[in-house]
Amino acid sequence: MALPALLIVAAAIFAGHLILNDMADQVDRSETRSVERSVNAALNSFLTRLRETHGDYAVWDDAVRDLYGKVDLAFAESNLADSTRQAILFDTAYLLDENDRSILGYTHGSVAMRAASDEFGQALEVLVAKVRAQSKPYDAETGFLRDRAGAIYAIAVGSVMPSSNAVARPLGRPRLLVLGRSLDGAALQRIGQEFALDGLAFVSSSAPLRPGVRINDPSGNEIATLTWSPSIEGLEAFQRVLPTAFLAVGLICLTMLFLMAIGYFNLVELSKRERQAVFAANHDELTGLSNRAAFSRMLDRATVEHRREETPVALVYMDLDGFKEVNDAYGHASGDFLLKYVASGFASICEGSGTLARVGGDEFALLLDRAETVERAEVLCERFIRFLDQPAAVNGRMVSIGISIGVAVMAQEALSAEELLRRSDVAMYLAKEFGRNRVAFYDRSIDAARSERMALADKLREAIKADQLAVVYQPIFDAGSMQPTGVEALVRWLHPEIGLVPPDIFVPIAEESGLIDQIGAFVIRRACRDALDWPDVRLSVNVSAVQFRNPKFDVALAEMLSEVGFPAERLEIEMTETHLVANPERAQAIIANLRARGVTIALDDFGTGYSSIGYLRRFAFDKLKLDRSLVVGITSDETARELCEATIALARALDLRVTAEGVETEREAALLRMAGCDYLQGYAFARPMTAQAVASFLLSTLPSAFVLPWSG
Ligand code: C2E
Ligand code: MG
Ligand code: MG
Repeated sequence: MALPALLIVAAAIFAGHLILNDMADQVDRSETRSVERSVNAALNSFLTRLRETHGDYAVWDDAVRDLYGKVDLAFAESNLADSTRQAILFDTAYLLDENDRSILGYTHGSVAMRAASDEFGQALEVLVAKVRAQSKPYDAETGFLRDRAGAIYAIAVGSVMPSSNAVARPLGRPRLLVLGRSLDGAALQRIGQEFALDGLAFVSSSAPLRPGVRINDPSGNEIATLTWSPSIEGLEAFQRVLPTAFLAVGLICLTMLFLMAIGYFNLVELSKRERQAVFAANHDELTGLSNRAAFSRMLDRATVEHRREETPVALVYMDLDGFKEVNDAYGHASGDFLLKYVASGFASICEGSGTLARVGGDEFALLLDRAETVERAEVLCERFIRFLDQPAAVNGRMVSIGISIGVAVMAQEALSAEELLRRSDVAMYLAKEFGRNRVAFYDRSIDAARSERMALADKLREAIKADQLAVVYQPIFDAGSMQPTGVEALVRWLHPEIGLVPPDIFVPIAEESGLIDQIGAFVIRRACRDALDWPDVRLSVNVSAVQFRNPKFDVALAEMLSEVGFPAERLEIEMTETHLVANPERAQAIIANLRARGVTIALDDFGTGYSSIGYLRRFAFDKLKLDRSLVVGITSDETARELCEATIALARALDLRVTAEGVETEREAALLRMAGCDYLQGYAFARPMTAQAVASFLLSTLPSAFVLPWSG
């Protein structure tokens, strides 16, 4: 950029110089022409005046009388000699006779030393000849001549003639009067003043340095050049304007530099903005990772490349678990902070490997498109999960979230970008179902399982209509007295062809397909109706998180209870943490409403999910149900026992009653009793059974006799 600019500036200076020079030349030439005209006019006027003077002296009766024949010297003295002395009109006068010989001559008041022809040479003869050749002899001939000394003279030659009829015109050839006025310094000065010409001077005509007017004598010989000093010569003007011109050029250069600098900075700014725009178009504003659009472009490119070079491609799809809850509970600023925290953590984990992008609210994706992708994907996924094992500090709170990861790999088989994306998504959902904080790799069986689930959902819909659902009841015992104090209602689906479908399978499907509300209502109605026959035992009903999402759940429940006529005080709702985490405020409100109506609330499956002590304190539960996974190892594993004991102690400290679920042996029961459990539930005492069976069970003490083969 600098070089062309410098060239432009140099060219401008050069062109400026040329133009100024040319202008100076033009000025010189036109000045010269105009002065030439003035000088010529001055010279002509000088000659004209001399001719007029000549007329005054030569065309004059007295002159004819006194200058013909024998010349009257007194007349000549007083008229001619005196005038040459004064030298105002002329300073030289000669009288030539009929044969052109000088009869008398004066110069500057004295008698001329030489004859006119001697003094002025052949050029005078030309003038004389012209006069002699005239048919009308009154006009003087004029011209410039040089005398022997080299001085330039204006000369007028004409015949001496009478001015009136009083004197007769001389016969024959007339005598001639020659008047001359030397163009000396004084004369030139006067001409100069008159015509506003400075420094008029004659120079040798051979090589005039300055402009001038050539003066030729009547025979055409150049006798001198009259020069002058021009008012301001172009060159001088040029030299005078040169500093200004340089200043102007300097200013132009500075302006140009300034404009160039502005241009340069604009350019820099523009390219910076362009880069920012390109960056913004391809990156997620919040985390600075690639955005969804950029990611899908890269994915497309990777699939094309795969077709060409068969390098394996792995697509890792990640969804944060519990992010929405943090966002809802602590606000968007905290959510944003958490996303940035996760993004920067993940970015540093996969430094140099693949492309990491944020492809949705709390969804991230990683594209690996080199060899060793599968192994690399496994390693990275492991690190992502481990990274989130540590709780993050968000606005002074420790927040714990998890991640579910699905991986789809394209090795030999070529896939479209959409298919690869779909597969990773499917795998990710599988990871979520398996209990979060896990990685699932796609394989075809997932798709098979999915379509199976969809088919199952259809069958479940039919089952509800065909009344294939049933409710069984598992008694719950007081840990001290071992008397049954309650029953838990558990839903069952006996499909005519498939057989018994466990609730662990179909409840999630019902939740997904929106059938859970119907099923839930069915279970509550049926259980309440059944339980009316068993006084003095509490009825526990499991309520799914999806049912809790209905803000009118408590009202709907109350309506069902009054419809059946079941007392609310005998009902216990078992809920899992899932709902609490998803919507703490609403859950709190509903729990409060239910409790106000006399319903008790148990937190089910404690020990499987987040199991946060914070939740226990925040929500007003009546009971805690220890999940079977906490109970399982207590007889064989010291740590498991300690953990179970500590959990029970904690619940008691929070003034919660504790039920242990899935108690299968007497030893377990003994340990749990010692640890402070209030209630026990499990196969060790009673399996889930039909309504009639549980009725008999509650009356008798023969528990296992009524267990149905399909009751779980
Ligand atoms: P849950 O609420 O924790 O129910 C206890 C589960 O443990 C029941 O399984 C029960 O049969 C089983 N169980 C009881 N004692 C023992 C034992 O000693 N050993 C073993 N291994 N298992 C024992 P079930 O009936 O298959 O129910 C599974 C889960 O399905 C329930 O877990 C509950 O979360 C859900 N569920 C069942 N019925 C309903 C319902 O009506 N509505 C909703 N929303 N969920 C339900
Ligand atoms: Mg339960
Ligand atoms: Mg449970």
